[in-house]
Amino acid sequence: MLSTKVEVYSNYINGEWKESIHKRTFENINPADVEDVVGLFQASNEQDVKEAIEAAKAAFPQWSKVSPSKRAAILNKAADILEQNAENYAEELTREEGKPVTDSKNEVLRSAQTLRFYAVEGQTFTGETFPNDDPNMKVSTEREPLGVVSVITPWNFPISIPSRKIAPALITGNTVVFKPSSDTPLIAIRLVEALHNAGIPKGVINLVTGKASDVGDLLVTDPAIKAVTFTGSTSAGEDIYAKSSFTTRTQMELGGKNPIIVMDDADIDLAATLTINGGFSLSGQACTGTSRVIVLKDVKDAYVEKLIEKASALKIGNGFEAGAKIGPLANEKQLKNVLKYIQYGKEDGATTAYGGEQITEGDYKKGYYVQPTIFTNVKRDMRIAKEEIFGPVIGVIEVDSYEEAIKVANDVEYGLSASIVTNNLKVAQAFTKDIQAGTVKVNRTTTGNLMNAPFGGLKNSSTSTFRESGRVGLEFFTQVKTVYIGY
Ligand code: NAD
Repeated sequence: MLSTKVEVYSNYINGEWKESIHKRTFENINPADVEDVVGLFQASNEQDVKEAIEAAKAAFPQWSKVSPSKRAAILNKAADILEQNAENYAEELTREEGKPVTDSKNEVLRSAQTLRFYAVEGQTFTGETFPNDDPNMKVSTEREPLGVVSVITPWNFPISIPSRKIAPALITGNTVVFKPSSDTPLIAIRLVEALHNAGIPKGVINLVTGKASDVGDLLVTDPAIKAVTFTGSTSAGEDIYAKSSFTTRTQMELGGKNPIIVMDDADIDLAATLTINGGFSLSGQACTGTSRVIVLKDVKDAYVEKLIEKASALKIGNGFEAGAKIGPLANEKQLKNVLKYIQYGKEDGATTAYGGEQITEGDYKKGYYVQPTIFTNVKRDMRIAKEEIFGPVIGVIEVDSYEEAIKVANDVEYGLSASIVTNNLKVAQAFTKDIQAGTVKVNRTTTGNLMNAPFGGLKNSSTSTFRESGRVGLEFFTQVKTVYIGY
């Protein structure tokens, strides 16, 4: 049983758990039951952020000289702690974010794996040596840490996204100020707590909770901040990018409007399964979630029939309910936004083929539940076909050819992830070249990315400066120095 006592949680600054300077807190609410308060968290202000930045700045000279194997040992120990506590942390994550508890557990375990991955990769991440014509000269590059890095993250993967930013930052010798989403501060605290209990020196990682409007600016504009790694909405990313100085390195992973193309030779059952899993898992709140289906005319009816059959088999419920595949939306803003787009779909003339309503009867009225929704007769210029919804809403667009499908797929501002369902190797191969997306899949869901492979978007889905994840994810956190030694 989860405790009903409301705990007060602290910031973590310079190795200590601390209240915010003004001692104000905010409530973190369970989206499956809005009367359940998960905890009270520090409503920090710029003075708290300044203190955290100063601590990170002071810790940098020493941490940057700690041997990579010692830094790796801390990451590995923190990974042990996450694994040992995976069940409890998963329950806490579900309580604050709403996703099914099995997904939460997988996320905690994946975060532990991410720490281990960078503990290994970071120890061999180094420069190159360049052959040259002078027999008495060696030319090589060194990779050095940047300094203090701001890590700003969303609520939808509230431990795995921070892990894939914080682990490469730390292993390469940077120090960190971390601001998690106010919808999921508890799991962020667990990650920092794991690093603390693993023996990370004071000031190397700092955590400040609070509203972006109170703490966000300084995390971007303070001269001590050498880099900002951000994941969230495109509008927030634009704001951060505009505020950052030209010498501050930025990495922005942003929104998406991800299509799946269903070709006329596709396995229709597979296509429907991939759409359901890509569009409705996490209640459609994945940046790579399937939001548009672009289907060839000849197979549209058979495909839509299968899609509705599979959607109607989905169990909706709070994340602790056995078999529940669709939980609540993460917060009230999300609920309002998703309902707004469902309304747009109706107003703009799409057909509601399945769902299309908020669920308010029985226990559902306690939380932010919306039916998984399928719109058909969607036209490419409708708002539901163009804009990110970030909820369980799929629009089906009918086309006559592969060429038209590609045109529609690319006719949005985003370019995060895209998939095609086909058995035709030539079409599959052409798709990988024609589609404008940072992640391109064939016969797989638009969602999901490997921890050891690069991840990031094109167009307005990313600043496309540096990729996250995989070995390449280390590049953002280091700068290159070229060294010529004559002897
Ligand atoms: P959000 O942009 O509202 O907030 C993300 C984080 O940034 C939060 O911690 C928030 O407090 C902070 N923030 C917001 N505005 C800020 C500002 N002006 N300055 C500094 N900090 C600011 O996003 P969200 O609602 O938490 O998450 C959903 C969005 O994230 C969706 O658009 C989704 O596509 C995107 N997302 C992208 C990826 C990816 O890898 N591309 C992954 C997950 C989520």
